[in-house]
Amino acid sequence: MLGLDGLEYHYVEEFGCKNLMQKSYGMTDISEFKEPRTVVIWSSFLAGKNLEERVLKEKELWSFKLKPEETFFSKFEKWEALDVPGFTYNVEMHKRERELLKGFFEKKNTIEDYDKVALEDYKKMKEEFFEAIGKDYEIVMGYFALADVIGHLSFGVKAKMKLIYEELDSLAREAREYADDMLIVSDHGMKAVGRFGDHSDHGFWSIGRELDLGRPRITYFYRLIEGLRKA
Ligand SMILES: [Zn+2]
Repeated sequence: MLGLDGLEYHYVEEFGCKNLMQKSYGMTDISEFKEPRTVVIWSSFLAGKNLEERVLKEKELWSFKLKPEETFFSKFEKWEALDVPGFTYNVEMHKRERELLKGFFEKKNTIEDYDKVALEDYKKMKEEFFEAIGKDYEIVMGYFALADVIGHLSFGVKAKMKLIYEELDSLAREAREYADDMLIVSDHGMKAVGRFGDHSDHGFWSIGRELDLGRPRITYFYRLIEGLRKA
């Protein structure tokens, strides 16, 4: 499973990312949430129910952590969840990204400084992910923040975003070689605000088989994944 933060349905289509689209793809419905917040949506995805209220009670949103038994991973014997917000998120690793985002608006660093760290973190996670899917887990979820992180300062710069989407498309192509089935999900997409990007009101899903899900809620996938376990 690939969790791709901030992956925008419209860019996936426009840039022709066939490996991200797989056999069936579409938008998700996240209208039940007051705002498309990353930690809220991923936590709800993992638990199969709307956790907005509970997550927002947390002082530091990014530190919110579900217990394994509250997630669909508990349905499996051997699982791995890498850097997933609301569960196994590496707050320390992402701290630098956040500092550089703030630093850009305070004119302390450039967008390029910020992009560089985002790409380094991505590379690190990619290595961990391929190591994990080479092992005998029943289910592995790799979370990649790249499209969201780069998108916040560059979503309106299409040539740059196209390169990022092409990278994620090749990640999906490589990952597919290891799996019987692959689910790709994003928490929300993005919309351009000048050169910058803001969260959009829908997410993205795709699966490597013919399956018409229409526009499912993000909380629907818990049942789908549970079903895959039984199949
Ligand atoms: Zn997000």
